[in-house]
Amino acid sequence: MPIRILPEETINKIAAGEVVERPANAVKELIENSLDAKSTSIEIEIKETGRKLLRVRDNGTGIAKAEMRLAVTRHATSKIKDFNDLEQLNSMGFRGEALPSIAAVSKMLIQSRQAGAESGWEISLDGGIIKNEGVWTGAPGTIIEVSDLFFNTPVRAKFQKSETTERNRALQIIEELALVNNNVSFKVKTDKRTALEAPATNDPLVRITDILGSYFSTALIPVNLNHPFLKIKAYITKRENSQPTKKYQFLFVNRRPINFTRPILHSLYEAYKENIPVGRHPGAVIFLEASPSEIDVNIHPTKREVRFSKEPQIHDLLFKCFKEALINSPVSGLNISYHRPEPDGGKNYDVRESSARFSYNENIAKSGILARPESINPTQAELIATTENDASASRIIIGQMCNLYIIAQDKDGLVIIDQHAAAERVRYEKYVTEWMSQHIAIQPLLFPENIELLPSLWTVAIANLDIIKEAGWEIEEFGRKTIRVSAVPAVLGSNINSKNVLQEILESIQNETNMPKPEKIEKIIRTACRSSIKAGDTISTTEASRLIEELMLCKAPNTCPHGRPTMLKLPITELSSHFGRK
Ligand code: ADP
Ligand code: MG
Repeated sequence: MPIRILPEETINKIAAGEVVERPANAVKELIENSLDAKSTSIEIEIKETGRKLLRVRDNGTGIAKAEMRLAVTRHATSKIKDFNDLEQLNSMGFRGEALPSIAAVSKMLIQSRQAGAESGWEISLDGGIIKNEGVWTGAPGTIIEVSDLFFNTPVRAKFQKSETTERNRALQIIEELALVNNNVSFKVKTDKRTALEAPATNDPLVRITDILGSYFSTALIPVNLNHPFLKIKAYITKRENSQPTKKYQFLFVNRRPINFTRPILHSLYEAYKENIPVGRHPGAVIFLEASPSEIDVNIHPTKREVRFSKEPQIHDLLFKCFKEALINSPVSGLNISYHRPEPDGGKNYDVRESSARFSYNENIAKSGILARPESINPTQAELIATTENDASASRIIIGQMCNLYIIAQDKDGLVIIDQHAAAERVRYEKYVTEWMSQHIAIQPLLFPENIELLPSLWTVAIANLDIIKEAGWEIEEFGRKTIRVSAVPAVLGSNINSKNVLQEILESIQNETNMPKPEKIEKIIRTACRSSIKAGDTISTTEASRLIEELMLCKAPNTCPHGRPTMLKLPITELSSHFGRK
């Protein structure tokens, strides 16, 4: 075959392969054009998967009659004039490819009128070829109607997914664009239903509520930072409102929906570490703004990736912001009833301070989980204190189940607390706080205990004697294979089996020869807390109340130190919808 230049229709049809792989891509392109045209109102109609009909109507600048044909010509754009403009690009589109590509594989009708123009103009195309044009007298703005998408590309048509998949994909794309363009009103009709309606608003949180629902939006904490190279505005879920999936995570960079990059995702999950149970996810709507010179928006029309020139700094900045927001946000929604615990008069064992030397790691201290006690936000304590007198809130402990769970009611619904995990969390934070403030209360044993260990564990004990002492244990070498314990940290309770606990501590650190000391001590503390608490004890209502009170004062009340959840909430709204009480 001799070499020849392809006709424009064929080129466009080929390009359509990249630009409009599926109806959702066409929806995205059309809406982006409306946004670029400064519309304040966009109405979208989707019939079936979007292949039958896609209609986007806006009240933007409109297209001049004389430019109508150019709009569907390849590489014709009003958004840039040369390559230099790319550096300061503010528009969503700029390649001048979308309209001709969509037109090439569909039947398209464009109706448009500029504000102030005497009348508008319309053109219709069939597979990219102009069929008709003439005067149009609609309101200022643009309507683009795409029907029979892929009618002339049977192979592409064959590869389309099911109706619901395609339509949902299109709706997801609209949701994202609507989330970041709160000043624009969006309305979406699918077949005969209104699928989405979001009036224009200046408040991003109102838009989040319209798109993602009030159940989600009331669970959010705002995050704001104006840094010279990065502006952060974000809404992240409170510790107790983690999500079962990653569906509630949105990232926008310079107003474009972007896939999460690894460092950004990492900064988010790191901030929640220990605050949400393993397998749960934070919800987050994150808007970042950076100078275009700091980012490389990989500028393929459908690519959703971005690279920052200062990636590590951005990671740290985000982590700090998220972490701080979480620490400063009081634990809400758990205004559970409790009675003031009776003064603890019953215990008469001698509690004195350990004489061991202490050290702690500033980084651990800064992480928040192990923060010094004075940095605990007073609002947490206040919150619980004020709800004491708040008669309107229902705050009741209902009972205990299987000697494992405390069943309670708060203002939002039912709360089930894992007694064991909760106690572990409380004990852990107390223990860590004592260690960091260098005052571990210790409890001498009535009779010092000689503990015989396997030779392998005995050597671990000997190698770590000082560290274990620093964690509040009074222990010494006592002949071959034996360790003598004469006092244990008081926080572990009066009836611990010191042999078991010590053994588990030694096992937990036996392979950690290179672990820095503060981390090792933290691990000892964590292990000690776990092995000193056993599930299955019956506890009184007073004890349950007190446990919940203490749990709510913790920095990370939602998980045990090993990441297991401490509580499960069943909101009354969920119960009502289950029982059809709407
Ligand atoms: P690009 O968006 O990359 O410029 P498109 O093919 O999407 O390319 O659109 C071509 C041109 O048509 C745009 O540059 C713009 O001038 C015009 N246009 C498209 N849609 C609209 C609209 N809804 N309102 C106003 N102008 C539009
Ligand atoms: Mg475009």
